[in-house]
Amino acid sequence: MELSRRGFLKLSGAGIGAAALAQLGFSAPAFAAAEELRISEAAESTTVCPYCSVGCSAIVSVMDGKVVGLEGLPDSPINRARLCSKGQSIYQVANNDRRLTKVRYRAPGATEWEDKTWDEAIPAIARLIKDTRDATFVETENVDGKQVTVSRCEGIAQLGGAALDNEECYLATKFGRALGIVYMEHQARI
Ligand code: SF4
Repeated sequence: MELSRRGFLKLSGAGIGAAALAQLGFSAPAFAAAEELRISEAAESTTVCPYCSVGCSAIVSVMDGKVVGLEGLPDSPINRARLCSKGQSIYQVANNDRRLTKVRYRAPGATEWEDKTWDEAIPAIARLIKDTRDATFVETENVDGKQVTVSRCEGIAQLGGAALDNEECYLATKFGRALGIVYMEHQARI
């Protein structure tokens, strides 16, 4: 019988779970049926763990807007189906009553937060970026008595996150460099 790594891990997990459940009086078929029911109707997609710079990948099973299954991605050359304890908790990012789902805004000096729409937030963010860049852009600098072009935006810093994949990082970095941003950091290094 051909058995993929993922299939092997599923079977192993089911075997260990079945042994534990058997001790509690549940049968192995009952456990297997429950496992099947849990994710058979769910939509699967892949994701990247956001917690550190290792960049492990996972398969997420989603049903009715809730994460119902999470496992390491066997095809990932980085984690090969493994997830550390932090990675195993990433479902809590989605299944969480305290997760913010709206844009929240607190005006300068205000004590209360207000809800805003993305249609209001995106132009406001773009305006702030443009105004800050205009006010802090350094076009040339004196280096050893010679004026050289530096095209540097000193008023904005850019922070990346471990949930971004290579292509997203490429685009984010290009965007920042196009604005002249030189202060770039990554969440996992802080
Ligand atoms: S699963 Fe663990 S090691 Fe992998 S990226 Fe997430 S936090 Fe880092």
